Amino acid sequence: MAGFQGKSVLVLGGSRGIGAAIVRRFAADGAAVTFTYAGSKDAAERLAGETGSTAVVTDSADRDAVIARVRDSGPLDVLVVNAGVVVFGDPLDLDPDAVDRLIRINVAAPYHAAVEAARRMPEGGRIIVIGSVNGDRSAFPGISAYAMSKSAVQGMARGLARDFGPRGITVNVVQPGPIDTDMNPADGPFKDLVHPAMAFKRHGRPEDVAGMVAWLAGPEAGFVTGAMHTIDGGFGA
Ligand code: NDP
Repeated sequence: MAGFQGKSVLVLGGSRGIGAAIVRRFAADGAAVTFTYAGSKDAAERLAGETGSTAVVTDSADRDAVIARVRDSGPLDVLVVNAGVVVFGDPLDLDPDAVDRLIRINVAAPYHAAVEAARRMPEGGRIIVIGSVNGDRSAFPGISAYAMSKSAVQGMARGLARDFGPRGITVNVVQPGPIDTDMNPADGPFKDLVHPAMAFKRHGRPEDVAGMVAWLAGPEAGFVTGAMHTIDGGFGA
């Protein structure tokens, strides 16, 4: 596949998991890809070397750093905001600083990055945020802070779709269910909780999500905006 030649793509949070699959997909499809990372320097450098993409360190918890990174990336055809963290547990016991950091990474960074990208994005531009099926559904306790953040990006996408629609820029959210990554390994602790609730009793692959992102970024999805696109093996069905 090679459908993104000449396109400039920035992936926030691309060193591992779903983000790394998105970087691989756009690079394989011919785009000039830059991606950010925070802690996984070795993985980021390896991925950049393998794919011919550019890795840059930018902590998504730092609003000014995120805005500067997007601004300095020049006019983007595609912005993908993938960086996300989970804070899981009884809300009565959670560290409030950890919850505030989650909000900065999962909510504030997507908003500021999308707005900054839109300043210079050409007609046909694409803004894609990786949300979660937990934006629609909290199927078990302990997930409220994370679910709150993933519901927040739904409202953001609906609103920004209307703000940027007149300029031909689409804004969408991709909502994965259980996907096999470091955050949620296929053989990890969530397996027994989520598989019984799924139509397919297994985790999905990061590449599945990357395929949906590539479609949303491509020419066939030009009329798709302000929408949530769930890819969850039937978890939310
Ligand atoms: P991983 O934890 O496996 O990877 C997270 C990625 O985000 C890494 O590349 C990491 O980079 C980056 N990242 C995390 N924090 C920051 C930060 N502060 N600044 C910059 N980059 C950061 O997660 P997944 O791949 O599983 O998840 C990716 C997205 O998909 C998230 O938004 C998540 O909420 C969402 N999602 C995942 C699901 C799943 O089952 N896996 C289900 C539903 C949604 P580094 O290591 O360099 O810090």
